[in-house]
Amino acid sequence: MKKMNKQKTRQEENKLPKSHETDVLIIGGGLAGCVLAYQLLEQGKRVIVLDEPHHSTASRVGAGIINPISGKRYSSIWNAKEVLPSALNFYRKCTDELPRKPDRIYCREVPTLRMFASEEERNFWETKRAQEQHFAQLVETHTVDELYDKLSISASYGALQFLSWHVDTEVLVADLRNALASRDALWEDFFDETLLKLEENAAGGLRYKNFSAQQIVFCHGWKAHKSSLWGTLPLSPAKGELLTVRLKSASLRHLLVKGTFLLPLFLSSASENASQETDLVRIGASYEWEQLDERINADVGMSLLESAQAIFPTEMHIVEHRAGVRPAAKDSRPFLGVHPRYKQCFVMNGFGAKGAVLVPYCAEQLALLLDGQGNIPREIALERFSRN
Ligand SMILES: Cc1cc2nc3c(=O)[nH]c(=O)nc-3n(C[C@H](O)[C@H](O)[C@H](O)COP(=O)(O)OP(=O)(O)OC[C@H]3O[C@@H](n4cnc5c(N)ncnc54)[C@H](O)[C@@H]3O)c2cc1C
Repeated sequence: MKKMNKQKTRQEENKLPKSHETDVLIIGGGLAGCVLAYQLLEQGKRVIVLDEPHHSTASRVGAGIINPISGKRYSSIWNAKEVLPSALNFYRKCTDELPRKPDRIYCREVPTLRMFASEEERNFWETKRAQEQHFAQLVETHTVDELYDKLSISASYGALQFLSWHVDTEVLVADLRNALASRDALWEDFFDETLLKLEENAAGGLRYKNFSAQQIVFCHGWKAHKSSLWGTLPLSPAKGELLTVRLKSASLRHLLVKGTFLLPLFLSSASENASQETDLVRIGASYEWEQLDERINADVGMSLLESAQAIFPTEMHIVEHRAGVRPAAKDSRPFLGVHPRYKQCFVMNGFGAKGAVLVPYCAEQLALLLDGQGNIPREIALERFSRN
């Protein structure tokens, strides 16, 4: 196993250019690294992304749901007024600009039903809605029978109805990577931090193998805990598993949420109209903090299937089972900022289960910081972890 990795690295090294000068070197080509790179290229910067391709990165595996109300506490999206339009505009722009298959839509609306699990949960929601006025415009409370009268959806306490979005991060990242590669801005290689040469003086920039750059940004997801530069950050990575199933004799057009979610997967442009139904559904997602690897576990898959069938009792056939690790921070917010010692070193990470909605806005903020402009909002700034 070790030998294979070594051989692969040597082969990949051969593909690296003899020497390359750039403005910004980005480590990690998941959603975070690719979106940042794309935005910087648009601003006329020279950019190189270094990424070790991996089949189970969070961006390839993740469900990509943007849910305006989530979690047990019915939380809204942080800074939704700025973050949500920024995300939706960016994905629309990608659909307009990226060379893509004609039937690809990166982000689409999904009507959503969130079912109450108990009377207490419904009361909790009613109190919250009364206290936080903005929820009133966002959601309607329903009994589910009127929506799914033919199917016995398990929602004896009623449900909320609202609009969510599904971002196909797997396909989007693949297309962004192709766009970057076509501009010589993506190199597939493992980044070995021990070979990084940083000047104490930020103006001196940095060197890595054959690359020289003015600035370096680390977007390397959950593996950041292994970094000597960023390893002390309070990351709390969480493994997650998802199933894709085919419904045998039913179809679905709503995202159903009751702890577990059932996300209808629309595969063609004709389905931009979300009133269509589909028999292909993604089910998720589990949470696990101890066993951090990207292996699927059949027991977890079975338990996801059972939970899904308890919500939507119909025959389901498993088509795919996937696992990955969310790069989550202990306080569930991303972190952006500059290294306390090396002022040419930056980080953008900690997107947890909210990468789809947060990455485009955070990339805009980080781009400003690289230019010495703007202030990262306190809630997502690296400085919030410093002692003073
Ligand atoms: C099961 C699951 C369900 C999810 N569901 C949702 C959801 O519904 N909605 C949502 O918004 N988000 C969801 N997420 C989270 C979302 O996918 C992430 O927030 C987002 O993809 C993080 O992107 P990233 O670029 O920071 O990390 P990643 O996608 O992990 O990318 C990091 C990249 O860095 C590379 N890398 C790491 N170390 C090195 C190195 N030394 N050298 C070179 N390259 C390196 C990796 O190979 C990888 O390509 C889910 C995640 C999982 C796992």
